[in-house]
Amino acid sequence: MQNGNCKTIIREYSGQRGQNAFTNKIFCGSCGCKCKRSNYGKKKVWCCSQPRTVCQMKCLSENELLEAAKKLLGENFKAKVAADIERITVFDDTVNFEFKNGTVKIWQRK
Ligand SMILES: [Zn+2]
Repeated sequence: MQNGNCKTIIREYSGQRGQNAFTNKIFCGSCGCKCKRSNYGKKKVWCCSQPRTVCQMKCLSENELLEAAKKLLGENFKAKVAADIERITVFDDTVNFEFKNGTVKIWQRK
């Protein structure tokens, strides 16, 4: 993983804390930068914070993220994400839920 110039980008988005249990925990598996939540039509999607010219990560829809979290963590997944999840890394074919205790649970993307 190369880290390029993500650091400044991460700082730009750190002001949006608390709006969502997943904010600041989702990272791009392609380049390692943070993912940001954005609108795609009426849907919400999580995409790499780098421009598309720099990183072509396959964006993850919020619906799929919620479905994955519910399957892997159970009904009260939002509290578990806040308490137990260190980071969630989005790859083109999987979503890896990395726990603070070192466990990794993997969701196979559709
Ligand atoms: Zn990326």
